[in-house]
Amino acid sequence: MKLARFAVEGETRLGRVDGDHVIDLSAVAPGLNGSMRHLIDRLHELRPAIEKADAPRVPLSDVRLLAPIDDPRKFLAIGMNYKAHAEEAAAAGIPMPKSQLWFNKQVSCINGPFDDVVIPKVSEKVDYEAELGFIIGTRCRHVSHEDARSVIAGYFVANDVTARDWQFRSPTYTLGKSFDTHGPIGPWITTDDEIVDPHDLTLTLSLNGEERQRTSTGDMIYNIWVQIAYLSTVMTLEPGDIIVTGTPSNVGIATETFMKPGDIVRIEIDALGAIENRFISE
Ligand code: MN
Repeated sequence: MKLARFAVEGETRLGRVDGDHVIDLSAVAPGLNGSMRHLIDRLHELRPAIEKADAPRVPLSDVRLLAPIDDPRKFLAIGMNYKAHAEEAAAAGIPMPKSQLWFNKQVSCINGPFDDVVIPKVSEKVDYEAELGFIIGTRCRHVSHEDARSVIAGYFVANDVTARDWQFRSPTYTLGKSFDTHGPIGPWITTDDEIVDPHDLTLTLSLNGEERQRTSTGDMIYNIWVQIAYLSTVMTLEPGDIIVTGTPSNVGIATETFMKPGDIVRIEIDALGAIENRFISE
């Protein structure tokens, strides 16, 4: 299933994407107030009705797709999780981490899959990072590698937009990763059952139509199961929490080229769709 949030006639709705239409789930999943977190929390119970729902159908071209979730309680991200990217970072003077490097993006940075991303006046080094994201479906703690897949609800495409000048001003990365609009995600959540192997997907990013990043998600240093085991050693993971899994090589900082107003960044992952965002001045 592909689960989306969308706006139609000024209202936010949840839907199931079916080909080039979206089926409004207001009737089969009432009382959720457009909250994907609440839908994910009740997915087990609601799933049969959602799968069966066939109406009302709205052409995708008539709606504005929103971030598939805008109210997660956590937005976590792992850094330097592809070998070639960790090497380019090391070449730029950032030491290669000896264990999983986690940081927060504040949830207020979440942005729609096709919405504009703002280049803040206070940054001259805004950069893209194409990433595979996943969303937790089950409240859990101390999850083994073997059981990790069972706590995932689904996957999405993310751009971990980063203000490099702010990122390196402090060791936590938090501010440089959390400017408003710097978390475009989408275009929807593809549920885990539709994905054969999340570690065998092709991820690409193009800037103004020219390819900049390409990898298989199989090239992660710490795969998703290892990430879930490590994070859940520390904290309870809850339905709706979102986690992005690192970017491959050839981010802008590698060549000291950063986002300019008018730039268009498109990120695509096999089976998950694409997001495309224009960068604009503040
Ligand atoms: Mn990242």
